[in-house]
Amino acid sequence: QHPFAMASEKDAALASDSPTIFDKIINKEIPANVVYEDDKVLAFRDIAPQAPTHIVLIPKVKDGLTGLSKAEERHCEILGHLLYTAKVVAKQEGLEEGFRVVINDGPSGCQSVYHIHVHLLGGRQMSWPPG
Ligand code: IMP
Repeated sequence: QHPFAMASEKDAALASDSPTIFDKIINKEIPANVVYEDDKVLAFRDIAPQAPTHIVLIPKVKDGLTGLSKAEERHCEILGHLLYTAKVVAKQEGLEEGFRVVINDGPSGCQSVYHIHVHLLGGRQMSWPPG
């Protein structure tokens, strides 16, 4: 079996286009600490912050974009909008000294929620390479 093949049915279900916890946040079924919202994007504080500022930015409509590896040409606009919004939120959060944006993809990338999202991390000195 290829090392990057789905390890189990659970992983296959996770990586599918089925609803995730982020749909519940979009639909306001569960609360989130929203820091920015427009018609296309929602940004909220990560529930398990890895830095003093840790915000997750997501598209309100997933449109098959479970992760970056599923991106198609039609997603270029929302991908650009997500990245630009990360910069807007970084400024709003006062991250003048710098920040990091991260997109985890797939099992090896440590992705846990299969609704594409950009992590915005800041408020501390980052190190390189990342873990
Ligand atoms: P991933 O590991 O790159 O897929 O990122 C998913 C992120 O979503 C993780 O950093 C989680 O801590 C975060 N997360 C999961 N559930 C919630 C929630 O209900 N509210 C806020 N953040 C969440």
